[in-house]
Amino acid sequence: MLISCPFCGSRASEEFTVLGDATPRRPETPEADPEAWYDYIYLRNNPRGRHREFWQHVGGCRAWLVVERDTATHEIHTVELARDVARKRDGS
Ligand SMILES: [Zn+2]
Repeated sequence: MLISCPFCGSRASEEFTVLGDATPRRPETPEADPEAWYDYIYLRNNPRGRHREFWQHVGGCRAWLVVERDTATHEIHTVELARDVARKRDGS
């Protein structure tokens, strides 16, 4: 499986470490509902099919990426820098 790093280009997935589900949102404040923190820290989806995950290019530039891929076929749909995803989401 090849992943197209925005900085390094197309590289083998062995250069990357998958860091799990990219969909949970960090609670706004440390004082947020403990249930919200529990969900954020411990609960992760592991669906079959199209899914967004954090990957880090540990064997290259070390960038954090959000990779949308199909967990059944391993087809990669999109690769974005995690910081750009966060900026778009937060409107900054
Ligand atoms: Zn890279």
